[in-house]
Amino acid sequence: MEKIGLFIEFKDEEIKPAAFGMITGARKEGRDLCALVVNRNPAECKTALGEYGVDRIIGITAAAGDWHPDLWADALVQAMAAFGIQTLLGVASPQGRDILPRVAAQLDAPLLMDCLEVDLETHVARTTRYSGKTVAAVRLTGAHRIYGVRANAVPAVPSPSEPSVETFTPAEAELPEMTVLETTPGRGEAVDLAEADVILSGGRGMKNGENFKILFDCARTMNAAVGASRVAVDEGWVPYAMQVGQTGTKVNPKVYIACGISGSIQHFAGMKSSDIIIAINPDPNAAIISKSDYYAVMDLFEVIPRLTKRLEEDRR
Ligand SMILES: Cc1cc2nc3c(=O)[nH]c(=O)nc-3n(C[C@H](O)[C@H](O)[C@H](O)COP(=O)(O)OP(=O)(O)OC[C@H]3O[C@@H](n4cnc5c(N)ncnc54)[C@H](O)[C@@H]3O)c2cc1C
Repeated sequence: MEKIGLFIEFKDEEIKPAAFGMITGARKEGRDLCALVVNRNPAECKTALGEYGVDRIIGITAAAGDWHPDLWADALVQAMAAFGIQTLLGVASPQGRDILPRVAAQLDAPLLMDCLEVDLETHVARTTRYSGKTVAAVRLTGAHRIYGVRANAVPAVPSPSEPSVETFTPAEAELPEMTVLETTPGRGEAVDLAEADVILSGGRGMKNGENFKILFDCARTMNAAVGASRVAVDEGWVPYAMQVGQTGTKVNPKVYIACGISGSIQHFAGMKSSDIIIAINPDPNAAIISKSDYYAVMDLFEVIPRLTKRLEEDRR
């Protein structure tokens, strides 16, 4: 039975919801789905991961505590060898982008990031190219294959199982040249951008960083994440972690609300697969207007506070 490794990410003490979509996409009769959890109690993950049909949970004890991409990658590689896992899937999140290439490099294995779909029979995966204008089908060959799947690309569907729980302690790795001094969550990460169902994004039309507060206030009323265009990032108004687009995060929410964003090709490359796109922009000729499902040709400073007030009233 082919063993498929699934690198599971956590936020605070919880498994990140994107993991469940990844498991759903990998699930098929005759496969042995191995959830790999690093420096966590694997037994505590049994209910959540069992709900989505994994076959075993492997708790890996890596030398580094909270996070060290090199040491964690080394621990994953050793666990893959010990359990006979040749295919590894992770989410193409910031942590996935940090660790999956390191695993691939150690194994000299092909890596495909940002996969919309992975066929684990043929090892053909689909991913976007040319700023999302085309979708390429890419076949990975070799003894090992590593895939980073786009968060929310496959909706999570429960399929309860009774996973076994195992543990693995890797041999001590050589001390890497890099030391992680501190990991601090960035602003706007209350809800993970890549995994959010609803995203409110601000662009040059926000005019400055302080004004992003109205987006954060509004986002809180609907458990949304806050994103930004590259202009807002380049101006120093918000951190890079919030950038959506070709050179930022690629998102897949149910609803994407673009506020003061013109709709450049590069921005669109990161959010065009959103189920519903809503634009707020006073310029009726802005490209985003014709690319949206709904739009308000209005000033965002008028719309957003009113929307926040209305949503707060609805929640009472
Ligand atoms: C190689 C490359 C990679 C890039 N990667 C990215 C990327 O990943 N992500 C990205 O976003 N960009 C990226 N860019 C930049 C991109 O080309 C655009 O410059 C950028 O997306 C524009 O940002 P914007 O829409 O915020 O600003 P603008 O294009 O200046 O648009 C601002 C909009 O705000 C509207 N506005 C003004 N006032 C208000 C108001 N009060 N209420 C509502 N609306 C208002 C205006 O009508 C206007 O349409 C990249 C560019 C290059 C060359």
